[in-house]
Amino acid sequence: MNRVQDRIVIVTGGAQGIGLATVRRFAAEGAEVAVWDLDPARVVEELRTSNPGWRLHAAAVDVTVPASVAAATETLVARCGRVDVLINNAGRTVGHMPTLRLEPRTWQSIVDTNLTGAFTCVQAVVPHMLPQRWGRIVSVTSVLAEYGYPGHAAYVATKSALAGLTRTWAREFGRHGITVNAVRPGYIRTPMNAANTPEVVAQAVARTPLGRVGEPEDVANAFLWLCSEEASFVTGVVLPVDGGMIV
Ligand code: NDP
Repeated sequence: MNRVQDRIVIVTGGAQGIGLATVRRFAAEGAEVAVWDLDPARVVEELRTSNPGWRLHAAAVDVTVPASVAAATETLVARCGRVDVLINNAGRTVGHMPTLRLEPRTWQSIVDTNLTGAFTCVQAVVPHMLPQRWGRIVSVTSVLAEYGYPGHAAYVATKSALAGLTRTWAREFGRHGITVNAVRPGYIRTPMNAANTPEVVAQAVARTPLGRVGEPEDVANAFLWLCSEEASFVTGVVLPVDGGMIV
């Protein structure tokens, strides 16, 4: 319990799916959590109502807009005095679209969200971690980046790039007491996957040695450990949370 007590935590894409499970887990473990999403007010209000002790801040943030990220960072620092943890979770994909039919603007929108969005958040937040010589950054890649996944070139490209950025940032910020890691989920039951047919889900389960799909809480638990003191000598790692899909 209380593994992130009083930490000031940002969760991007925190209004649903893996992000929402992460907000819940960190708040329950004593953190003060800023929920950054396109429109998180209603969700945060509901969480506050059902969990009166939780300390939550809702901020309407678009990670593709640097001014939006900068403003939310300044507001959080003004209110809480610091930032300790950044969970780069916001991400999107589009349905199956072969590379030769992928519109450049669709490619760009996925890159802007999944990859540039994480870079923008790191640029805004890390300057506030440096003086305190303590910080945790965790990003989210995907098992699909290891497989290669036809019809999802932009998504796979961004997730592969995030793995490289994780290793680069680990080296850049390690001497400042900041660890930088990523979690690499397998198939997780979230709204992102809600439109998938039962056949697609069954295929994912068949490829998973543990014989089930993942739940958002499975990923949130990995984030929590990476942000705890127990992981203070762990950096530059891309941690699989995939039920053994790739072993
Ligand atoms: P969801 O689509 O369920 O949730 C993502 C959240 O991010 C949504 O609330 C979405 O808002 C928000 N978001 C999207 N774009 C932006 C933006 N520009 N600025 C701020 N917030 C934004 O996804 P998951 O919970 O499934 O996924 C979370 C992360 O995990 C993603 O990075 C995803 O790629 C990764 N992942 C997921 C896997 C899975 O099987 N679910 C597997 C591997 C990786 P809105 O709904 O309004 O667009």
